Amino acid sequence: MSKIKIAELFYSIQGEGRYMGVPSVFLRTFGCNFKCAGFGMNKGESSVEVEAIAQRITEFKTYNELPLVSTGCDSYASWDPRFKDLSPMLTTSAIAERIMEILPYKRWEDEHLVITGGEPLLGWQRAYPDLLSHPSMLKLKEITFETNGTQKLTPEFKTFLQEWGQNLPFLSREVTFSVSAKLSCSGEQPSEAIKPDVVCEYQEAGHVYLKLVVATEDDAEEALEAVDIYRAEGFTGNVYLMPVGGVESVYTLNNRRVAELAMKHGLRYSDRLQVPLFKNEWGT
Ligand code: SF4
Repeated sequence: MSKIKIAELFYSIQGEGRYMGVPSVFLRTFGCNFKCAGFGMNKGESSVEVEAIAQRITEFKTYNELPLVSTGCDSYASWDPRFKDLSPMLTTSAIAERIMEILPYKRWEDEHLVITGGEPLLGWQRAYPDLLSHPSMLKLKEITFETNGTQKLTPEFKTFLQEWGQNLPFLSREVTFSVSAKLSCSGEQPSEAIKPDVVCEYQEAGHVYLKLVVATEDDAEEALEAVDIYRAEGFTGNVYLMPVGGVESVYTLNNRRVAELAMKHGLRYSDRLQVPLFKNEWGT
């Protein structure tokens, strides 16, 4: 039976993007191809907050005990190998059973499933068909993959999603790809992070939108240039600007400015509701 290394599995409100406000199960897989150490830093600098946390790793027995960071990737423990022991490898059956336990009515009602990371479209693509075909997952109607948009779908998984997303007479389903492509404020290189051919192919398997994290006018200009590159390849989806800020002190510094930038450029604004509502604590 397939297994997935799970960093977190929790029930909350989706705070970002198209499904903002929708009750959602979050399945956070372990592993990422990026580090995004530039978030919240001056240009060219990298966050070292996680280094200090890693020095104290033995103090933390569970994920929820880990400190939050105000710079770099706010879900660092979902990919940094130093924290890998906090993320168990579970069978898809055990994951499906755990999801049933955390749903309020122990069955799917109007909840949505978010498969996030880390980068959820790394090797775990081979295990999702088993998970989504589990008997307790059959009434699930909507899934979002929160991806950085660099990982191609395998032909097998693309076919699976196309079939999964077909409307049935008694059930209408939809697959969404929320693509948070990384701009240079993340610290990643555009040549590695902007993959329009990959993102355009997602359109063959579901609804796709871009959710670009920005803080300044310069970031917004870079976002517009990136959007042009995606459009030239055939991307037709919506574009959201979302403020930098995994902690409230950083988020409140730039959320209004980013909303104004989104309006100025005729783009959508995505909040990060989990920050004002829940302080972005683990499990929210
Ligand atoms: S792509 Fe996402 S999960 Fe991976 S390092 Fe960047 S912000 Fe973190």
